[in-house]
Amino acid sequence: MIRIGIDLGGTKTEGIVLDRHGNQISRRRVATPREDYAATLRTIVELVAGLEASAGGGRATVGVGIPGIVSPATGLVKNANSTWLIGRPFDRDLSDALGRPVRVENDANCLAVSEAADGAGAGCGVVFAAILGTGCGAGIVVNGRVLSGRNAVGGEWGHNPLPWPRPAEGELPGPACYCGKHGCLETFVSGPAVAVDHKAVTGETLSAEEIVARAEAGDAPCRATLDRLVDRLGRGLAGIVNVLDPDVIVLGGGLSNVAMLYDTLPPAIKRWAFSDRIDTPVRRAAHGDSSGVRGAAWLWRPEEVAQSI
Ligand SMILES: [Zn+2]
Repeated sequence: MIRIGIDLGGTKTEGIVLDRHGNQISRRRVATPREDYAATLRTIVELVAGLEASAGGGRATVGVGIPGIVSPATGLVKNANSTWLIGRPFDRDLSDALGRPVRVENDANCLAVSEAADGAGAGCGVVFAAILGTGCGAGIVVNGRVLSGRNAVGGEWGHNPLPWPRPAEGELPGPACYCGKHGCLETFVSGPAVAVDHKAVTGETLSAEEIVARAEAGDAPCRATLDRLVDRLGRGLAGIVNVLDPDVIVLGGGLSNVAMLYDTLPPAIKRWAFSDRIDTPVRRAAHGDSSGVRGAAWLWRPEEVAQSI
């Protein structure tokens, strides 16, 4: 009764074994064979075999988080920055290689699943979880299951436009996004976007981490940059509240370490949401960097394990 989660990253592939309660039994990390699809499949098969052996043998369920989406229309991977996966029937090929059904989800959806299962969203029916890191991904979990949607883009909040834009502050049309559009939330609320915004306003070249550290030490221009981040996140999350009204908002990724977000975001959301009050808690992901790999394992619920393997 064990579950394996695999987090297929651009440089590292990590695997974890969880028991039925979600406790970690073992964990391994290997280099991702970049640009080589067949080797990527082989690496995962070997990782699964090694993890099963480390857990005392026995057959595990396997869930995989990828930086992309398996298209429901074609069965092929799309929107992946690990480009060697694009256009491949990754879940079918891996399922064949492992001789069992495999569940594959976007890595932001894995964060949402993990936090809903036994993290910052435990006990909440509807969880909205966003990764504010090098980009901005997000996922929605309802009653423990990913809401991936008809087109498998459910939760792709990072490529909605920043709402209520202020043209005088460079928000309209906004910076160009890699997706081909302008002014996507990702171009305002990711780590690199915060660094670009800070430079545009102050002329100073600092990383997001440096800006956060200086703001926490009392530096006024850095604090102002974080205030702009809170205002923009508040506008973006007000749109989520108006449509989905989740029970909790969970933040992961590097910017989730900014302590002031958790007090300042609820009032920032309230300024824009269509509600006289906002009771939605905003919480930091409880499992940190492990959320992706844990969530991949949680793609199989404990009660599903018996019939799946
Ligand atoms: Zn975009």
